[in-house]
Amino acid sequence: MRVLVLGAGFGGLELSTRLSEAFGDDADVTLIDRTDAFVFGFSKLDVMFGVREPTAVRLPYARIAKPGVRFVRETILAIDPEAKRITTDGGTYEGDVLVVALGADLDAAATPGLVETGNEYYTESGAEVLRDVLPTFDGGAAVIGVCGDTFKCPPAPSEAALLLDAHLRDRGIREAASIHLVIPFGAPIPPSPEMSRALLATFAERGITFVPERKVAALERGEAVLDDGQRLPCDLFLGIPVHRVPNVVASSGLAVDGWIPVDAGTLETRFPDVYAVGDVTSVGTPKAGMFAEGAAIVVAEELIAKARGGGETARYDGKGSCYIEFGGGEVGRVDVDFLSTPGAPSAVYHAPSIQTAQEKTEYARTRGARWFGA
Ligand SMILES: Cc1cc2nc3c(=O)[nH]c(=O)nc-3n(C[C@H](O)[C@H](O)[C@H](O)COP(=O)(O)OP(=O)(O)OC[C@H]3O[C@@H](n4cnc5c(N)ncnc54)[C@H](O)[C@@H]3O)c2cc1C
Repeated sequence: MRVLVLGAGFGGLELSTRLSEAFGDDADVTLIDRTDAFVFGFSKLDVMFGVREPTAVRLPYARIAKPGVRFVRETILAIDPEAKRITTDGGTYEGDVLVVALGADLDAAATPGLVETGNEYYTESGAEVLRDVLPTFDGGAAVIGVCGDTFKCPPAPSEAALLLDAHLRDRGIREAASIHLVIPFGAPIPPSPEMSRALLATFAERGITFVPERKVAALERGEAVLDDGQRLPCDLFLGIPVHRVPNVVASSGLAVDGWIPVDAGTLETRFPDVYAVGDVTSVGTPKAGMFAEGAAIVVAEELIAKARGGGETARYDGKGSCYIEFGGGEVGRVDVDFLSTPGAPSAVYHAPSIQTAQEKTEYARTRGARWFGA
């Protein structure tokens, strides 16, 4: 079974690893990505606040040495889901199965003023720029603002606010700055009222103003303009740009209303043997790495069972955990079940602690070793 895995992020790496573990040299996996290294989303916070060097957080794809997996560094230019054929800047590939794991692209230009006068920390380059900008911010109005409806890692804006607060306290200039956090939800983490309450209490304690149910529509003359016309003074903007499917997905016919719809249990798209996992889908879970990984496991098990002649495999349960940096080295966690509980999503909250921070470090270490080890 020739499997083409499009995108080597959380979803693509986990899927390729599982197929290699199951079939060894007999796996026939081509893993394609346009970049030369994987970077955990949360590492961008470390880079931005100067905790880790940009080079230290990169996991080069050249290190992948999995039996039966060939990594190809090329940009995918077209996807034909009916023929299960893709065209890249290096050639054409055909598979028996396609797995689209291309994530979400960022469209900073969609927010007037963001590229010219703001900053974003959702890309490696944006985080690197901020690493130099933050030490020059000596006070004034800081705004952390979400610009679109959907974005990766719902806790990340709250984390940036708390870490900025800690950064300014460490420099002894917290009093000289205000911090506003603008997000389109009514609560910081909607599926977890407990985590939301803990975050709101921490914001209140640390003087962070929470602006719910709003987006930043533009940056203009030193102000952040919200989608209801309200204007906030803004000397430093840390933005979460508008998210979209990559252009190649938009032009493939796979996306409907912005994202790729899939069968929530199997992750199959409306095209037979074409699956989609992670941020690129509208499966109903947040756009976060742990959910992409969980979806990839379901697809891998399904493909392994098919190759071995069939059999029932588990359906996707939409379960995952999100770690949340509270500053001061403490990390909280929320475990959410989006799809397998009847009714609303259910969530279990774990208060911030140093122990959970260690657990997060271990999570990243084990994934790095698993995906990039031999
Ligand atoms: C600041 C920040 C903090 C975060 N914190 C967390 C966290 O604590 N926990 C968590 O679970 N998640 C977190 N995330 C979210 C997480 O990084 C993403 O949700 C996750 O990476 C999604 O996995 P994916 O496999 O769907 O896509 P991705 O990991 O984004 O992978 C997609 C891949 O496709 C490639 N690609 C795209 N287009 C093309 C093309 N045309 N040709 C070739 N290759 C292409 C990209 O280069 C990329 O490598 C965070 C994100 C950010 C930005």
